[in-house]
Amino acid sequence: MTSRERRAARELHEYLARLFGPEATIAIDPMPVRPQHADRVELEATVKRTPALPADTDARTRRRDTPEGAALAVEIAERYVAVRSARYALPSGLVPTMCDRVSEDLERSFPGLFPAGALQVDVPWLELVRATAETLAGHDALAGVVSAQVKSKFAELRWYVDGLPEETGDEIAAILDAASFLSSVVCEACGAPGAYRKGGWVRILCDDCNSNRRKKP
Ligand SMILES: [Zn+2]
Repeated sequence: MTSRERRAARELHEYLARLFGPEATIAIDPMPVRPQHADRVELEATVKRTPALPADTDARTRRRDTPEGAALAVEIAERYVAVRSARYALPSGLVPTMCDRVSEDLERSFPGLFPAGALQVDVPWLELVRATAETLAGHDALAGVVSAQVKSKFAELRWYVDGLPEETGDEIAAILDAASFLSSVVCEACGAPGAYRKGGWVRILCDDCNSNRRKKP
């Protein structure tokens, strides 16, 4: 593995470990680079786990604990790390970019999916949105989807759509739900593996961004 692949594998492993807990067995393997995305690292994750959440888990979380929901979250995580890897700087960190630019790129890549003003999250979750949109495309579930609003609510990615096509509606809903599930471990400020932080304004933050927030007056 190259150093970029090792870094991507480490990150992918960490997102999935946070998502599925210490009981999950996670294997990461390198995959061939897609010709249209030569700047990305492509990895495949295999997660073995026993879906056994406590009985008092809320219905929304329990729905995500199905094999189908988990498989979609793994697929989006693989794509998210691939998207993020295109900005890996050496020896560490990320090449900076701007929210407006990332939003415009997304609107251009997926015409009609994001009407003006629909995208209301910062760069890291915009990259998660791209990974999710690519997953929708990969499942032939992009046709007829128009986003009403993509935002962070109670520290979770919420992607609202204007109605769902009859045939693909269930699959689209499952993919968007898996993206929300994955967002619970993606730092809203920098995209690194993160966790839910309480405070005046609940957010998902990595350890570094969380301590930076605390230092601010
Ligand atoms: Zn962070």
